[in-house]
Amino acid sequence: KGEGEQFQFQADVNKLMDIIINSLYSKKEIFLRELISNGSDALDKTRFMSLTDPSVLGEGETAKLEMKLIADKEKKTLTLIDRGCGMSKEDLINQLGTVAQSGTSSFIEAFSEGADVNLIGQFGVGFYSVYLVADSVAVHSKSNDDDTQWVWESSADSTFSVYEDKGEPLGRGTKIVLSLKEDCLEFLEEERLKGLIKRYSEFINFPIYLYTSKEEEEEVPIEEGDDAEEEGEEEESEEEEIADAEEEEESDEPKTKKVKKTVNDWELINDAKALWTRNPADITEEEYKSFYQSLTKDFGEPLTHTHFSAEGEVEFKSILYIPKEAPYDLYQDYYKKQSNLKLYVRRVMITDEFDELLPRYLGFIKGVVDSDSLPLNVSREMLQQNKVLKVIGKKMTRKALAMIKALADADKKEDSEEEDGEEKSAEVEKSDEDSEEKSDEESKYVKFWKAFGKYIKMGLIEDAANRTRLAKLLRYSTSKSGDKEIGLEEYVANMKEDQKNIYYISGEDKESLMKSPSVEKLVAKDIEIIFMTDSVDEYTVQHLTEFEGKRLINASREGLKLEEGDVEKKREDQYKEMFKPLLDYMKDTLGKKVEKVAISKHLVQSPVVVLSADYGWTAQMEKVMKSQAF
Ligand code: ADP
Ligand code: MG
Repeated sequence: KGEGEQFQFQADVNKLMDIIINSLYSKKEIFLRELISNGSDALDKTRFMSLTDPSVLGEGETAKLEMKLIADKEKKTLTLIDRGCGMSKEDLINQLGTVAQSGTSSFIEAFSEGADVNLIGQFGVGFYSVYLVADSVAVHSKSNDDDTQWVWESSADSTFSVYEDKGEPLGRGTKIVLSLKEDCLEFLEEERLKGLIKRYSEFINFPIYLYTSKEEEEEVPIEEGDDAEEEGEEEESEEEEIADAEEEEESDEPKTKKVKKTVNDWELINDAKALWTRNPADITEEEYKSFYQSLTKDFGEPLTHTHFSAEGEVEFKSILYIPKEAPYDLYQDYYKKQSNLKLYVRRVMITDEFDELLPRYLGFIKGVVDSDSLPLNVSREMLQQNKVLKVIGKKMTRKALAMIKALADADKKEDSEEEDGEEKSAEVEKSDEDSEEKSDEESKYVKFWKAFGKYIKMGLIEDAANRTRLAKLLRYSTSKSGDKEIGLEEYVANMKEDQKNIYYISGEDKESLMKSPSVEKLVAKDIEIIFMTDSVDEYTVQHLTEFEGKRLINASREGLKLEEGDVEKKREDQYKEMFKPLLDYMKDTLGKKVEKVAISKHLVQSPVVVLSADYGWTAQMEKVMKSQAF
């Protein structure tokens, strides 16, 4: 205490630590997940750096890219050592206390709104979860960037200290010593630890060892006067005595006896084999789910996944997931850089920050991609221009869209089966579909659309090459769809025989659009109208002028074209003449406030409707532009 330089935690970090210390959260074991994940990140960095500069690795123990855990029941400490990149003095001060990450305040906010402590890793502040189980924590660390090895220490009393570590040299890496709270001593129990490490390290691509002790029997020769000696000097366990006695009974002249002794050893806990390299047929749903959780720090289940490999000119393997829910900050800023993909080259993690593999509108997709077609010494800077990566990105985009399409198709299948009153076919169950899912529950695609629909709409604007594929994924509510939302394919299938166009109208909400005079005629003709009520819709339809050869027509525009018979055309001509004086009078009166006054084709009952010109902004677009919020 009081050793070394003292520092104050940044205010938000302090708040965060208070939350953790006082939390009644019962799943305290998550601290181990966070520490293992940090160790793995640090090892990834070292392995990556060593590709271009092997001297980074050092020698002997230091060169081994692994993690080790030791529980000490006497001292009540749990120690975790990794041979990762370590932290310099500056890193220790900044990363662990004085510089608040953006996630710090977000976590505090989310927590105050009822979020679970379990989410901590997602906010980039997982380290502090150590205070769920420890009164005080010492982080010993040695980085190649700093000649000195340092200790960071804090008992979470709003301060921490940093001083030179004169203890055992690490070479490189980090040793974290947790002094456990009295009610957390279960984390010193070997079996408990083993189970947890197994769970949290299942998909860590570095070996993780636990220091374990085993009772082993050893045969040792019996010497003269052995018995007497032993009784006097050592305490023998009861079992041993029995074993000895039995042996004596069996043979007249025992030459050896069995002695129990405790053997300590490093036990390898994980098998460190990358999941994506395995055959999909041998991987269980449960494994895909756990991999997702360890990859994303999202403790929920993914909505769906796809696991594929590409061969030929460019070879790679990939597992992609769609999360069940949009992350807390997904819509805060669409244009913010985000990457949820980890890029590996021959099993070596290169980066998780390269955000150009998938287009931005698929930024919500999480997963890994591992290629043998890239050079191992590819630098992060080189990635941008790499042609192989461009090919990989293109193929991954297709696969990602196919995965979404499969969800939509499963949805359709479910629907038609409901109508037929049939049982779910075996085929559907074989797919990713949860066979226990009730039909009255929201389908996966409905969930997907609610969470990520806006992204697909952005995709339509941004990805011309995949526009047709994306158009099939759109869902809208219509004048006939009730509570459901339907796709354009379904709209087209339901079109009236003589109907040539797809009609839509955009505005605030379905109810007011339904009452809009603009759609009176369409409703009267029993034509289905798509309601576009999302602010991004106006932009999206600008890029979607037709679907399956049918034009998309905005019902609130002036030149609404409806299939009309001769009678209607004649009547229109009559009206034009008849009402010319009225139209002229109105145009004179309104002057520049309107572009023109005309006989409308939209109306049945209402006397008048205000429409948008055929070109230029619609009323809804003006609103959207004014609010600039989408
Ligand atoms: P995150 O891992 O999401 O960045 P954490 O709170 O878990 O958030 O860790 C904060 C930072 O502390 C890390 O980004 C890293 O810079 C540093 N750090 C934590 N543990 C280690 C470690 N074992 N080795 C090297 N750096 C570490
Ligand atoms: Mg972390």
